[in-house]
Amino acid sequence: MKLLGPNWLTNCPFIDYVGHTESEYEVIDGNGRSYHFVGIMAHLIEVHGFFEGRGTEYRVDPDELINFFHLNENPPIRQKK
Ligand SMILES: [Zn+2]
Repeated sequence: MKLLGPNWLTNCPFIDYVGHTESEYEVIDGNGRSYHFVGIMAHLIEVHGFFEGRGTEYRVDPDELINFFHLNENPPIRQKK
């Protein structure tokens, strides 16, 4: 995984106002395919189930995510909290 851009500070747009030091990342798989995302997306997806709107710059499309990380073949193992 590669950090692409500068860090900047952003707040979650939902009511929790969680602050994030934001970065843009690129993940490259063994076949050279790449996937880009910004760091706050992990929070938005996990806590709010929000993937950004269709056609927006920072959207993480659930189907693309599943296919890229082969999540339908190897479901992630969640750690107990
Ligand atoms: Zn939030």
